Amino acid sequence: MSRLKGLVVAIDGTAGTGKSSVGRAVAQQLGYGFLSTGGLYRALAYHVFAQHVDAADSQAVLSVAKRLDFVFERQPDATLKMWVNGEYLGNKLNLDEVAQTASKASTHAAARAVLTEKMRQAGKDGGIILEGRDIGTVVFPDAEVKIYLTAAPEVRADRRVKQLQAQGVAADYGQILASIKERDLRDSTRAASPLKPAPDAVQIDTSHMNMQQVIDAVIKEINKYAA
Ligand code: C5P
Repeated sequence: MSRLKGLVVAIDGTAGTGKSSVGRAVAQQLGYGFLSTGGLYRALAYHVFAQHVDAADSQAVLSVAKRLDFVFERQPDATLKMWVNGEYLGNKLNLDEVAQTASKASTHAAARAVLTEKMRQAGKDGGIILEGRDIGTVVFPDAEVKIYLTAAPEVRADRRVKQLQAQGVAADYGQILASIKERDLRDSTRAASPLKPAPDAVQIDTSHMNMQQVIDAVIKEINKYAA
């Protein structure tokens, strides 16, 4: 398939496998855009929470999703910065409560369809790396390159603890590990677009790899396609 601005590269996997850091770095190297699609689900969760909507109520979550207007603007670091209803939500989306509500709100197929359409619009011309849970399976089943990153939950919890400590935030390893496992289980067992590798995805276990090694492995896969 030929797209206007280049390939669509899908990077899926569980939380904490390095999808965002790797995706952004690879996008910078290729001169591509980078979209972290969890941000759309986090924005939905933020509005669900702010409007006191029950995240388990599929109709109510759908009507919140329908009222969200997304604007993306590519930044010099490749990231597609996202405004939601005119507001940049920034760090407000990084809270663990927001991630957990996102994981609950994202179980509803109809609300997912609304956000999936926004992702397709953002990526349709190619020249983009999208990171998420269902990019290679549902959002862009025709993506030219599909990567599925995995890592043991303990390794991911350890990475998150170090990341928070580096930001000067106190972190409880046990609590973080439990939260990661809870989200993994919900994301991979939901009926609508569960987290799973696409049949044609290249799986990379990052447990014993550093970020540069993962970046190199992803670039290698992209070059194979381009060759
Ligand atoms: O990747 P991130 O941690 O930002 O994702 C937050 C939540 O959004 C995930 O736990 C998952 O439930 C949901 N999500 C999804 N499909 C995507 C991206 C994220 O269901 N493509």
